[in-house]
Amino acid sequence: MTETTTHPALYSDPHRTYELDRAHVFHPWSAQADLDPIVITRAAGSYVWDRDDNRLLDFTSQLVYTNLGHQHPRIVQAIQEQAATLCTIAPGYANAARSEAAHLIASHTPGDLDRIFFTNGGADANEHAIRMARLHTGKHKVLSTYRSYHGGTQLAVNVTGDPRRWPNDNGSTGSVHFFGPFLYRSAFNATTEEEERDRALEHLEQVIALEGPSTIAAIILESIPGTAGIMVPPAGYLAGVRELCDRYGIVFIADEVMAGFGRSGRWFAIEHDNVVPDLLTFAKGVNSGYVPLGGVALSDAIYQTFARRAYPGGLTYSGHPLACAAAVATIQAMQEDKIVEHAAFLGEEVFGPALEQLAAKHDWIGDVRGTGVFWAVELVRDRATREPLAPYAGSSPEMAALLTAARRRGLLPFSNFNRIHLVPPLTTTAQEARAGLRILDEALTEVRAQWM
Ligand code: PLP
Repeated sequence: MTETTTHPALYSDPHRTYELDRAHVFHPWSAQADLDPIVITRAAGSYVWDRDDNRLLDFTSQLVYTNLGHQHPRIVQAIQEQAATLCTIAPGYANAARSEAAHLIASHTPGDLDRIFFTNGGADANEHAIRMARLHTGKHKVLSTYRSYHGGTQLAVNVTGDPRRWPNDNGSTGSVHFFGPFLYRSAFNATTEEEERDRALEHLEQVIALEGPSTIAAIILESIPGTAGIMVPPAGYLAGVRELCDRYGIVFIADEVMAGFGRSGRWFAIEHDNVVPDLLTFAKGVNSGYVPLGGVALSDAIYQTFARRAYPGGLTYSGHPLACAAAVATIQAMQEDKIVEHAAFLGEEVFGPALEQLAAKHDWIGDVRGTGVFWAVELVRDRATREPLAPYAGSSPEMAALLTAARRRGLLPFSNFNRIHLVPPLTTTAQEARAGLRILDEALTEVRAQWM
């Protein structure tokens, strides 16, 4: 047992913070022994400060969730007011914060996705969406793409395609993976976006036929796959998946946990293709992640399945009032401050053109792709062979050096294998975005000179 006092003065010693972390905090997705976490002491807007009071421009939005930046006064105030009134009440009661949050979310979800089942985050949202699809259809298989991430709980990690599934896969009953469209590393030898779309849809139809349509409950897709590489699908692909789902009686689950709530320059990324899924899952940006919240938006047809038959699932903290108050403040601020429009502007006017220029200057940038404030830069050893600068599911000294060089100059970028993801808050100003891109440019120049 250690002392139990929580006086805030305790939090003012960053060295103690670090020592206690290394002694007691077991970090996710990591080998523990050699971890060296950065201590963050404070944050505001687009910036965080480390223990030496270095200011870092946050191009990560943490795990791509602080969509309105750090310490947004309106969200902080909403949480404080809710805490002063009613910290918590169980999911079975009606509560103003929960009702208003559901109403606001439903006012932005596409089509008839008007009923909101709340969860604590993205993985459990996907777990429940799959359970709803299975109960609704009476079928069990779930199809998902290899290059995807759907969460760290057992079922969500089984349908995940990326390497985080490998050590967690215990047979994955009912989970079948297929190739989504990704022109830069096409599984279909396609050379144009149209070819990639058509061949990916033909491939998916074959997978459905060979797995047996009568066994498939759902297809779950990130509308824009995020951690697996921000691969914006070709126009018409999601509409094609919608058609296949309709033809074979399959529930279409759109995972908008990362891409949703404005990140792609639309409220939901699936709107780029004008598609209405049967179930839509969300988390992260719904309340900028200030208090954990996720959920599933249900179509009327799926809602009707459970109108007179109990839905056999729920969570103690479902629709937690503090999280819902943060969601209400977030969505109202997004509406009033035209945040989604600003995200689209940043993509079209700042990130898109600047990253094209960067690719023209640095020949080890193999591909640049994205929309809104959702961009990936893929680094290669050779543009012709497209050999990645770090292996799939691995790292490399060059990538590590690039991250260090960026951080030394005051930029915190998000990195995965051979990619840098540029995913700052949607509230980032054009000036801040350009400053971050300049730092990336300098870091690329420095690492090229030293390492390659
Ligand atoms: N789905 C997608 C697309 C995600 O990006 C994530 C997390 O990064 C999840 C699901 C899992 O969400 P959570 O970590 O809140 O459980």
